[in-house]
Parts: sequence; structure tokens; C-alpha cells
Amino acid sequence: MVNYLDENRFSVGLRTGAQYIEAIKNDGRRVFIDGKEVRDVTIHPAFSDAVRTIAGLYDISSDPENSKLMTHTAPATGDVFNYIWCLPRDKADLHARRGAIERWSEATFGLMGRSPDHVAGFFAGWAMAPDVFARNGSLELKQNLIRFYEFARARDIFITYTIIPPQIDRSKPMHMQNPPDLYAGVIDERDNGIIIRGAQMLGTGTALSDYLNLSQITPVQPGDDAHALNLVVPCNAPGLKIYSRRSYASAANSVFDYPLATRFDETDSLIVFDDVFVPWEQVFVYKDIDTCRDQWWKTPAHAMGNHQSQIRLVTKLRLMMGLARRVSEMNGVTQIAEVQTLLGEMGSYAAMMEGLVDAQIATCTTNENGYVEPGRQALYAAIVLQSKAYPRMLEYLRELCGGGVIQLPSSVTDFTNPETRIDIERYIQSPQYPATERVKLLKMIWELIGSEFAGRQEQYEKFYAGPPFVVKKRMAMEYNFNKSDKLVNAALAGYDLDGRCD
Ligand SMILES: Cc1cc2nc3c(=O)[nH]c(=O)nc-3n(C[C@H](O)[C@H](O)[C@H](O)COP(=O)(O)OP(=O)(O)OC[C@H]3O[C@@H](n4cnc5c(N)ncnc54)[C@H](O)[C@@H]3O)c2cc1C
Repeated sequence: MVNYLDENRFSVGLRTGAQYIEAIKNDGRRVFIDGKEVRDVTIHPAFSDAVRTIAGLYDISSDPENSKLMTHTAPATGDVFNYIWCLPRDKADLHARRGAIERWSEATFGLMGRSPDHVAGFFAGWAMAPDVFARNGSLELKQNLIRFYEFARARDIFITYTIIPPQIDRSKPMHMQNPPDLYAGVIDERDNGIIIRGAQMLGTGTALSDYLNLSQITPVQPGDDAHALNLVVPCNAPGLKIYSRRSYASAANSVFDYPLATRFDETDSLIVFDDVFVPWEQVFVYKDIDTCRDQWWKTPAHAMGNHQSQIRLVTKLRLMMGLARRVSEMNGVTQIAEVQTLLGEMGSYAAMMEGLVDAQIATCTTNENGYVEPGRQALYAAIVLQSKAYPRMLEYLRELCGGGVIQLPSSVTDFTNPETRIDIERYIQSPQYPATERVKLLKMIWELIGSEFAGRQEQYEKFYAGPPFVVKKRMAMEYNFNKSDKLVNAALAGYDLDGRCD
């Protein structure tokens, strides 16, 4: 019997928010923050609001009113499931999947990168080319992968991943770290499974998810076989420890002052595997450097997961455009040519990202199993460009705000003191924008451009898709050089030592 199938905390069918909360509540997961162990993430102030936000996503997708937008029917079985698990067969499927992902991203304003649709995209991508896992003709790992994908899809479970080792010493390969079991890897093998020891960097959302996927996207070197893995563990697996970074949500004093961190702080954690037992059924790549590499590039996984990210980012950039125009209107500067130029430059980045998402669908390709994946040239262009575009968007929004985002009441309680309120209402207002409206808008913008939450969001958009040098190399590989080569040949063939050839 497969271990995870025994889990009776996940029921089959479209998941509701209440079912999600019930599944992770007091489930024995070991989450640590501020030197203490968290007993229940669903009620702890560092995590509970983000849990509620994720629950809200499940309520959207399970609402029968949204079924046309949010659900897909498996052609072979007739099973109805959340679109995030769809294995697209044609462009229409990709469009529909985009619609569902966009709807979810609007509920978080694109501010939660690791909502359940992100890693679901990776698992869908792996299930679209499962033969990659059957290296050397062994079907077992391929079957494990398919079975887990079907299990997760049927129950709509939330998976996060850690696919980068901790930094510690990047000058050495994984097995040369001192001691050699610092980075998460296999330290023992049993008849029924393996033992994992070591740490993996930054599981975003792992404190909130059902399962954790462990693999490596960082190139694995010869000798690193013990780290060349792909597997899943439930977040409450014995020995798994989730060390959260500082919580911006619990540091916030009110929703009015911190409207984003209080709802969308998904948290990021160092993950420690303290001799975690993983049954064989949950292992998809085992001590196999070639498959560990190929799973990202020879399946649609990286394209499917990152296409989801790009759809989410477009929503976030739309929010930034709206905030940029709103603050300009409020300050009465929209008609100034320089302001319009700034809005125009911001718009060019937002439109470019949106256009690249359109292009990924327009140039989708069909694989040998008949599934379509987003076009990779446009996908990697978007990944590379976003790490430059997002900081530029922040810079322009910051420029448009001037000092207004700083000259704000210290907190919402300044509105409750009659003396301070009078001055705030007189001096922190704009035509059509009474003080509460002006302060509300500017506090939200400051959280997006200048707070600790903002800094983390920027770091996320720069790094979430993997090491920049890896994705840039991938862009160079995915760029279609055929037409370029033809042009170069034609340009060079047009003349020789004697002059023009035509
Ligand atoms: C907010 C946030 C959330 C994240 N969430 C997740 C998550 O959920 N799951 C997950 O698995 N990962 C996550 N990550 C990790 C992310 O994938 C990595 O940060 C990213 O891949 C970069 O790797 P690194 O941080 O180890 O940087 P390093 O590899 O240490 O590189 C740091 C810098 O050193 C230079 N450098 C290092 N090596 C090279 C090289 N070989 N060639 C050229 N330059 C080099 C580059 O300038 C690089 O930017 C997250 C990161 C952030 C910031």
C-alpha cells in the first residue's frame, strides 16, 4: 500500500478552504519562529492570515459558480478537478488554465508566489513527460511520479518545493561540504525507503502547505549522487523541521497600516531534514544526476510552473500600474508630461510581460505525448527580463510618490486621537481624497515599494525562478538561432574579396 494514499486527512474532490485548514491544523508539523515551536500554524499570528488567504483561493476554485472558469474535466476519466492540475492538450486548454490562474492571482494581487498553482504546474509538467523518470527502462520511479500526481490532483493538495541547497560554501560541490551531510541528501537506504539528512534553502510557503517537494535545480556535479533526487514528504513527516524567517504579518500593528503583509506574507523557511524517512513510493528520482537535470529541461515542468508565475506577475504589475496612476491623480500631476512619460515607461514593462505571456501560449509546442507546453523562447525571455523590469517598476513608482509615502501618520491610531486627527484631516488630504483615503492609498504603496515586505518581494522576483546564471544560460539555449544563422549566412554571402556577389 502506498503510504501517502493512507492519508485520510485529504478527501477526494475540489477542495474547500475549510478542508485545507482542517488538513494542516495541528497536524504535527514542526515549524519554528522566534526561537519557539509553533503549535498550530492556522492560529499563529505569523501564519494564520496567509492560511486564510490560501483557504480563500480554495473557496474560489471549489465554488460551483466558478466551475466553468476554475475546473477542468479529464477527457479520459471525466474527473473534474482544479485547472491548476490540467495537462493541456491544445491552446484552448492553455488559455483556460491561464484564466483560472489569473483569477487566483487576482485574489492575492499577485503577491503570493507560492500559491498552490505554482508547484502543481511542475507536477503537471512532469506528468506530461513521465518517461524522463524511467531512465534505464525502470518503470518504478515513473509510476511513482504518475501515482503521486494523480493523488495530488484528485485531492487538490498544496505542494511547495525546495530545489536549491543552502549557500554555506558555493565554491564546493554538494558532497564536498564540511561535513558532507550539510546539504539535504540520502544517508541511508532501507527495504521500504530512504533516509534524508541535511538542509535545503528557502521553502516559500512550506509552513502552510501539505507536502514538500525536494529536488535540485542547481546543477548537480559528479560525486553529488546522494543529492540528485526528486521526492515528496508530507510537511508533518517525522524529522522535518521548518525554520521560518521573520514574519512581516506578526510584526504588523494593523491591517490599515500594513494591508499587504497582514494578508499575503507567505513566509519563507529553511528546511531541515533530520533523518526523515521517505517511502520509496514518494521517490521519483534517485541518485541519478542525469534525470535530476533532465526533469527540468526535457519535460514541460519548468515551463508550466514558470508560466504560472508569469501570469501571476502580470497581475501584480497591473496592480502597480493602477497604484501609479491613482497616486498621480491624487497629487494632481497626471497632466504633467514627465509624469506621463514615467507612466508610459512603467506601462511598457507591464505590457511587455503580458505580451510575453500571450506569446508563450501563441508559440506553444506539442510534445511526443500530445500535450502542449508554453513556448520556451518567450518564457525564458520573461524570466530573464522580469528580474530587471520589476526593480525598474518599483523605482518609477517610488519616483511618482515623492515624499508622500513618508509623510504619513505613524499608525491608524493617530486617527483616534481627536487632536491629531484634526491636523491629519486638514493637511494629509487631496481634492477628492479625504485623509483616510489618501493615507490608505499611500500606506499600501509604501508597503509595496519601501517596507521589509517590499524588499522581500523584490528579492523574490529576482530569484524565485532559480539562479540567474542558470536561467540566462537556458535563454541562450532556447533562443531560436535558426533565423539568425540564415540572416548571418545571407549577409556574409552577399560579397567576397572581389566585392558584391549578386
Ligand atoms: C524570496 C525568495 C523566495 C524563494 N523561494 C524559494 C522556494 O520556494 N523554493 C526554492 O527551492 N528556492 C527558493 N528560493 C531560492 C532561489 O531559488 C535562489 O535564491 C536562487 O536560485 C538563487 O540561488 P542562491 O540564492 O543560492 O544564490 P547563489 O547561487 O548563491 O548565487 C548568488 C549570486 O552569486 C553569483 N553566482 C553564484 N554562483 C554563480 C555561478 N555559478 N555563475 C555565475 N554567478 C554565480 C550570482 O551573482 C548570484 O546571483 C527563493 C529565493 C528568494 C529570494
